Amino acid sequence: MYNPKSLKAEEFINDEEIRETLAYAEANKDNVELIDKILEKARPIKTKDGWHCEGLTHREASVLLACEMSDKIERMYEVAEEIKLAFYGNRIVIFAPLYLSNYCVNGCLYCPYHIKNTHIARKKLTQEEIYNEVVALQDMGHKRLAIEAGEDPVNNPIEYILESIKTIYSVHHKNGDIRRVNVNIAATTVENYRKLRDAGIGTYILFQETYNKKGYEELHPTGPKHDYAYHTEAMDRAMEGGIDDVGLGVLFGLEGYKYEFAGLIMHAEHLEAVHGVGPHTISVPRVKRADDIDPDAFDNSISDEIFTKIAACIRLAVPYTGMIISTRENEQVRARMLQVGISQISGGSRTSVGGYTEEERPHDTEQFDVSDQRTLDEVVKWLMESGHIPSFCTACYRAGRTGDRFMSLCKTGQIQNCCHPNALMTLKEYLIDYAGEDTKRIGEAMIEAELNNIPKENVRKKCLEYIKSMEEDGSRDFRF
Ligand code: SAM
Repeated sequence: MYNPKSLKAEEFINDEEIRETLAYAEANKDNVELIDKILEKARPIKTKDGWHCEGLTHREASVLLACEMSDKIERMYEVAEEIKLAFYGNRIVIFAPLYLSNYCVNGCLYCPYHIKNTHIARKKLTQEEIYNEVVALQDMGHKRLAIEAGEDPVNNPIEYILESIKTIYSVHHKNGDIRRVNVNIAATTVENYRKLRDAGIGTYILFQETYNKKGYEELHPTGPKHDYAYHTEAMDRAMEGGIDDVGLGVLFGLEGYKYEFAGLIMHAEHLEAVHGVGPHTISVPRVKRADDIDPDAFDNSISDEIFTKIAACIRLAVPYTGMIISTRENEQVRARMLQVGISQISGGSRTSVGGYTEEERPHDTEQFDVSDQRTLDEVVKWLMESGHIPSFCTACYRAGRTGDRFMSLCKTGQIQNCCHPNALMTLKEYLIDYAGEDTKRIGEAMIEAELNNIPKENVRKKCLEYIKSMEEDGSRDFRF
């Protein structure tokens, strides 16, 4: 009994519907006529109010994912890029993870923080240590963080998370500010989500890990995370608690990717059907080597090619959703993924508890090996060299543009009069306050050229005024 409007996990992520979808996709993977029709449906259309995109159903998107014809796959990549440029332009939003605590009571088989790991050093940051981590992150130039913690009601209760958020927002070091704190903590109650909302968080992120219930239960043999329904229904509770922006994700490599993909798109459809707004972001992590974790222990690892195809198909299916890639991936993979739809990346990340205040990258408390070990400045420079505008913008949620209000900004094309100047102004802040000489030179040229791409003349003029004021009187934090 598949029902996207149901609030029961097994009805909106329905195993039978997923299996039928996979069979339908397999049966139609060479159906050129159908594939062309789906690809055409996915394309952005220019309307008088901006761009419009239809998106795809989980069945349509699964047909594309199953298709192995190289010319059609190329076409998927082209359409994915068209969509990305229509809605997100050439901006890439930048963030960093901040690990608060690796105490955890769960038994997740893929995560080194699992309870049976007795040799990993356990660490929980004090508020003073958080303050120092945030100073280090601000000194790099970060404005947006995603906080991470293991699940442990004794060591990491909600009060600890809330106090930590308060500490993070209170740090104003030199010209630094953390203006948006996204939160990636275990599934919790409506009451706790309400508290997180009241603490001013940005997106609540929770990875499903796998949508396959049987696989899920085996991969989470012990601890509160074992409960598939409680985990899968978390986003509904978060939205009930008033959090408008939620971030989905699958940990690719654990279970079959086609199953995961269908589940992920069904989850997005469910949120849209029940709450009138889909996920704010989708992340695409892959299982990595970590302390006592060998990714080869799972039989579903995917090649870079399949990984790229998954990202492109997500882009086609849910065109208005931001897409995130972390430093789990190396520079080459990240470069390719940027072309097919990724709109946010982390930079200069450390995945250990307290890692930002250490001179050398520490490994003792790390959650996973970081593949992209470049500094934030190197990432910023690299993005600009490949034609992307690194954006440190956090304006939307601060201006109340969350949930469907953000989506309508995206849908009406006003994003170009809003996100584009905001990206340029926050890049300017970065260049003045934190950039190396080369980065600065490239960035100044980019800002000058990109100012011309702000459609409304009055916005362009105002943006220029704000930028001048940053240079001349040291003002900061302008936004549209
Ligand atoms: N503890 C929280 C939870 O259970 O949802 C969230 C924080 S956890 C620190 C963040 C995410 O890291 C997990 O949801 C999981 O997908 C991912 N992760 C865990 N082990 C990993 C590994 N070995 N390689 C890559 N990602 C991993």
